[in-house]
Amino acid sequence: MAEEKATKNFIRDIINRDRKDGKNDGRVHTRFPSEPNGYLHIGHAKSICLNYGIARDYNGKFNLRFDDTNPRAEEQEYVDSIIEDVKWLGVDWQDRLFYASDHFAQMYEYAVQLIKKGKAYVCDQTLDGVREYRGTITEPGKESPFRERSLEENLDLFERMKEGEFPDGSKTLRAKIDMSHPDLLMRDPVMYRILHAEHHRTGGEWCIYPMYDWAHGLEDSIEKITHSICTLEFETHRQLYDWFLDELEIFHSRQIEFARLNLSHTVLSKRKLLELVEEGYVAGWDDPRMPTISGFRRRGYTPESIRSFCKKIGVAKMNSIVDMVVLENSIREELNKKAMRVMAVLRPLKVVITNYPEGEEEELDAVNNPEDPDAGVRKVPFSRELYIEKDDFQEEPHKKFFRLAPGKEVRLRYAYFVTCEEVIKNEKSEVVELRCTYDPETRGGDSPDGRKVMGTIHWVSAKHALGAEVRLYDHLFTKRDPNEAEEGKDHKENLNPNSLEILTDCKLEPSLKNAEAGSRFQFERLGYFFADPVDSSEGKPVFNRTATLRDTWAKIEMKGK
Ligand code: ATP
Ligand code: MG
Repeated sequence: MAEEKATKNFIRDIINRDRKDGKNDGRVHTRFPSEPNGYLHIGHAKSICLNYGIARDYNGKFNLRFDDTNPRAEEQEYVDSIIEDVKWLGVDWQDRLFYASDHFAQMYEYAVQLIKKGKAYVCDQTLDGVREYRGTITEPGKESPFRERSLEENLDLFERMKEGEFPDGSKTLRAKIDMSHPDLLMRDPVMYRILHAEHHRTGGEWCIYPMYDWAHGLEDSIEKITHSICTLEFETHRQLYDWFLDELEIFHSRQIEFARLNLSHTVLSKRKLLELVEEGYVAGWDDPRMPTISGFRRRGYTPESIRSFCKKIGVAKMNSIVDMVVLENSIREELNKKAMRVMAVLRPLKVVITNYPEGEEEELDAVNNPEDPDAGVRKVPFSRELYIEKDDFQEEPHKKFFRLAPGKEVRLRYAYFVTCEEVIKNEKSEVVELRCTYDPETRGGDSPDGRKVMGTIHWVSAKHALGAEVRLYDHLFTKRDPNEAEEGKDHKENLNPNSLEILTDCKLEPSLKNAEAGSRFQFERLGYFFADPVDSSEGKPVFNRTATLRDTWAKIEMKGK
């Protein structure tokens, strides 16, 4: 991740000030803390790029950390996917991969310290009881009947909790703060709960697990994180993190909050994404329609395009929705320059050039990428029978249709001018074939007499064509904000029924036979396509459309208004 230059933002302003004030001896150390309970999404990419970019630009350090404090929801599969995704984004955390579970023993020691200080107690209230006693914003809470247990009793019970003497949910360890505190989070929050569950790393070693609010600040402190950058929803938790650190008198990170990324036409919540996977609305976490890093990777996005998107959107204190177009434009910009252009027909219509000699064929020069003079040219075969795109022909053309129609002449890209002479239909009156003539003088695409044609269309020689499957993807949700749903319904109501279209009879120019899995192309006039690394096989690529050439969605939405 070396190419991007630093961008100014309010977080960097704070860090600059801290450094000027000599805080932490000028040291800058950030982290990305993720709970392994799902795959990473594009919002996480924003946080990763932000944290890693800061560490890099200040010659600081970056930790990759797993907040694995909840064995019920967490799995090794998620840990592995997160490591893969963060690496793919170009992040190098060197030897600094940490797990909250590495610190369980230290956290336990800290909890004992708080008990000894009279700042924590074992409570026998159930979680429901705790909730009931908590009070509301307008009413103070009530103190737990177990709040005044002696120091010895608390130490003894806490140890026995750890030793597994008590069943799940029967006891908790709580911080002794203030049951009438104006902030509900400060009303004796739970620090530990009993959970006899197998943990993906520590196995059955622990049967008490730290709550997130207790663990989070400790992890930052133990790892000596100088700037703990997180999303706005943690602003209200900062007071509690500070209370724990102050009571323990241990290293204090500075927490800085920023607005989370929201992206149009999708949802960025692991809970909702998990639901889409589990209930089969998508094929998996890496379904190319998913806003996950693995989904974008499978769709054909590059790490560069995601990083440049994250840089472009910047960081703010206000929540807003970024349009999906911004992300799509970042891959378009990159692939416009880099991807080789080829011809592919997705919905084929056969064309016979009646005056082209039977059995003959020739090779024409096609430019690989007009944006890149070094990309060179390649040969494409031409013969008497071709395929063109079905919708490049209209039998009764409307006024602004400049492509093929009866009696009309168009340019076949890199080849010849052709004129449609006859339309052949099947018994259902569907057009199944066109008979055309070509002008041999227009080889390469220009006429010697200077006559112009209005349209240029792409084509593939029938005899040489490579049959392939191509998948077209569209927004997963039809609404810009899918969470805007009718009374009693949820975001799933706004799923786009046409988010995936599989075309199995596509005709590609033969050079694509050797397309490597994972390679990217521009199919002329159609968009950017990616040879699916999972479903492609030798000589038989399967293509995913990464993006259309232009944003077609804005127009559709305007019409709908
Ligand atoms: P979700 O809300 O999707 O379940 P999460 O915040 O619970 O996500 P974590 O694994 O805890 O998931 O998040 C890891 C880090 O990524 C946190 O620091 C969090 O603030 C940050 N993060 C999560 N979602 C976004 C987002 N949409 N934009 C920016 N940062 C995010
Ligand atoms: Mg979270």
